[in-house]
Amino acid sequence: MDAGSQLLLNPSEEEQAHDVWTACLEQIRESVNTQSFKTWFEPMVPLHLRGGRLTVQVPSQFFYDWLEEHYYGIISTTIEKVLGKDAHLEYAVRTDEPQVEVDYQITPQPAQRPERRSFPPQPSSFTLSSPPASSRGRTEPASGTFQSFLNSRYTFENFIKGDSNQLARAAASAVANNPGGTSFNPLVIYGGTGLGKTHLIQAIGNYAIAHGKAKRVIYVSSEKFTVEFVEAIQRDTTSEFAGFYRSMDILIVDDIQFFAGKERTQDHFFHTFNELHQLGKQIILSSDRPPKELKGLDDRLLSRFQWGLTSDIQPPDLETRIAILRNKSENDGIDLPQDVVECIAANVTSNIRELEGCLISLMAKASLEGRDITVDLAREVLKVVVGDVKSPLTIETIQRTVCEYFSIPEDLIRAKTRKQEVVSARQVAMYLAKELTNCSLKTIGLHFGGRDHSTVIHAYQSVEDQMRLDQKYQANVGQIKRRLQMLGHV
Ligand code: ADP
Ligand code: MG
Repeated sequence: MDAGSQLLLNPSEEEQAHDVWTACLEQIRESVNTQSFKTWFEPMVPLHLRGGRLTVQVPSQFFYDWLEEHYYGIISTTIEKVLGKDAHLEYAVRTDEPQVEVDYQITPQPAQRPERRSFPPQPSSFTLSSPPASSRGRTEPASGTFQSFLNSRYTFENFIKGDSNQLARAAASAVANNPGGTSFNPLVIYGGTGLGKTHLIQAIGNYAIAHGKAKRVIYVSSEKFTVEFVEAIQRDTTSEFAGFYRSMDILIVDDIQFFAGKERTQDHFFHTFNELHQLGKQIILSSDRPPKELKGLDDRLLSRFQWGLTSDIQPPDLETRIAILRNKSENDGIDLPQDVVECIAANVTSNIRELEGCLISLMAKASLEGRDITVDLAREVLKVVVGDVKSPLTIETIQRTVCEYFSIPEDLIRAKTRKQEVVSARQVAMYLAKELTNCSLKTIGLHFGGRDHSTVIHAYQSVEDQMRLDQKYQANVGQIKRRLQMLGHV
C-alpha cells in the first residue's frame, strides 16, 4: 500500500477530530438556541482525536468556565453518543504564552470533573486553599522552588495603554526590564479601585520572570503579609518569615493602605524594605491613595516611599474604555458590535472591573435568553450594573457633545456669534435637541441664548436639507446622535 492510500484509509488525527466534532455540533445545535450556539460552540476548534480522546480548543479560560457551568450535560451526552461510552473530551485553553500549558479535561463521569475556575480570575493566593498549617511558616520546599502568587493573565500585552495610565505603565515597564536597576525603587502605583493597579504590578513580575530579569518574585497583599506575620509571631518563626521575604529579587506588595494602624507589621516591613533596598532588589507597592495621604502609616515608611517613583492611575477616558472592551471581548472570542461597545463604554466610566462585569453579564444574558447582542440588550444590562442608563438627555448635554465633536468652545453656541462653524454646530445642536428631547421649540430657543422658536424651526429644516444633500454631513450628525443616545434616555 502506498503512502497516499494509507493516508486515505487512516485519516489524520486532525481530520478525525474535525469529523467527530462536526457530528457533535450537529447534535448540539438541536439542543441549544441559535445565539448560544454561535456564541459558545462555533468558536471551538477541534484539534485532534487520539484513542477516543477528543481535544477541542476554546478561546479563553472564561469560555471554558462558561461551557462547564452551563453546557456540561449537553456536551458530555453528545460526546458519548458520537464517540461511545469510553470517550473523553479534553479542552485546551488557547493562550498566547506558550510556556503556560493549560489543559482541562472533562469525562462523562461527573466525579472526574475538574475543579471549578472562577472568572474574573482571582490571584491564585486567594483561590487556592490554604496550605497545610505545617507549611505556612514560609519555609521553602527542599527544591528551592516557591510560588510567586502571580496571576499569569496579568501581562503588559493585555494592559491597554491610555492617557490615564501612561506614566504608571511606562515606569512599570522600565522596572520590569531592569528590576532594582532604575531609580524607580520603590515603584509606588496608586489609584482608585478597579483601575488596574493589581494588574500592572503583577505584569511587572510576570514579565521579569518570563524574560529572565528576576528569579525570585513574590506578590503579596498587605493583608496577607500581616496575617503571615502574626502567624509567624505565634509560631515563633519570625526569622524564617523575614528570611523568606528578604531573599526576593522583586517584592510586590498590593494595597499597602491596609498596613495602616498595624504598627508591628509596619515595623517588620520597614526592615524588610531597607534590607532589600540595600541589596539593590526591587520593591513595588500599590495603594488606593497617594502615599502622603495614608493615615496610620509610620513616617519612616512614608519617607522611604519617596526614594523611588510614585505614579497614579486615573480613571480611563472613553477611547481607552472602548479599547479595553474590544480587547476583552476579542480575548474571549466574542465579536461585539461597535455600537454595543460604545454604549457600555459611555455608561461605565469609573471602574474597569465594572466594565468587565458588564461585558460578562451581557454575554450571559444574550446566551441565556437566546438574544442577539444589541444596544437594547446592553441597556438592559447597564440598568442592572450601573443602576440606570444615565438620566434623561438634557439640552446642555447635547450642546456639550456637539461642541466637543466640532471642537468649538461651548459658550459660543449660546452666544450671538455668526461665525460659520459656530452657526453650523448650533444648528446641529438645535436639530438634535428637537429630535432627542421632549422640550418645546420655545424652550430649545431659550437654551440657545434666548433665540426665537422660528430660529429653531429654521435650524431643524436646514440640517434636514443638508443631510439629504451631503452624505458626509449626514454621517457626522448620525455619529453625534448615536453618541448622545448612548448617554441618556431618549
Ligand atoms: P485595582 O487593583 O486597581 O483595583 P485591577 O488591577 O484588579 O484593579 O483591575 C480590575 C480589572 O480591570 C482587572 O481584570 C484588570 O485586568 C482590568 N484592567 C485594569 N486596567 C486595565 C487596562 N489598562 N487594560 C486592560 N485591562 C485592565
Ligand atoms: Mg487591586
